[in-house]
Amino acid sequence: MASRSQIVKTIDALKHTLQDLADKGHRGFDCHSDSLDKLAGWGAGSQLRFETLKDIRLDLGDCQRCRLAQHRESIVFGSGSPTAKLVFVGEGPGFEEDRQAEPFVGPAGQLLTKIIAAIKLTRKQVYICNIVKCRPPGNRNPETGEIDTCFPFLERQISAIQPDYICALGAIAAQTFLNTTEPISKLRGRFYQYKKIKVIATYHPAYLLRNPEKKRNVWEDMKILMKEYPDEV
Ligand code: URA
Repeated sequence: MASRSQIVKTIDALKHTLQDLADKGHRGFDCHSDSLDKLAGWGAGSQLRFETLKDIRLDLGDCQRCRLAQHRESIVFGSGSPTAKLVFVGEGPGFEEDRQAEPFVGPAGQLLTKIIAAIKLTRKQVYICNIVKCRPPGNRNPETGEIDTCFPFLERQISAIQPDYICALGAIAAQTFLNTTEPISKLRGRFYQYKKIKVIATYHPAYLLRNPEKKRNVWEDMKILMKEYPDEV
């Protein structure tokens, strides 16, 4: 008998196939995003995924819970598969992300897309989001109060997605998940446990743009991830 996780993976693969066909212009079947989300929910069972990403987005509303709201153009909620096995978490939206309401679409995002391709995945197969959902002015680091306000929404997103792995990009994401002030240079390179999820921390793609010699370390971290990551996903 197929296990629950095999059923979830099969339904997820079906959803991706339908989405891909729709993206390539094929018609004649129901590929509306609501239907695809419903399909993704079938395999999970109501007791496993009791809150959907849409519910959480609705609850977030036109969020004014911290002062980042005053400067933002958009709330950057997250993008990718609602049943992703791997979630990438950055720090916070930058200029381009704020403009497009999409995470990691600027120069650092282009590098992240390459990193995802290097581990033989696509942006649609993973989920991409940030510790805070609104752009900190001038791309400063998010402050503790801002993180404390926003992180519970990310925790709910992660509960809805139920990934097996989280890749924390940069110090802010790594320190938030691992509840530490250790530098990223010390945190990277091995797995940690966050709830039932394996977390690996690595350098932020924006840091890699300034320090390309660190790409070697990120590749080592991705190899650690790939060694464990299920082939069939
Ligand atoms: N940097 C981040 O941390 N997140 C983004 O979405 C873009 C740049």
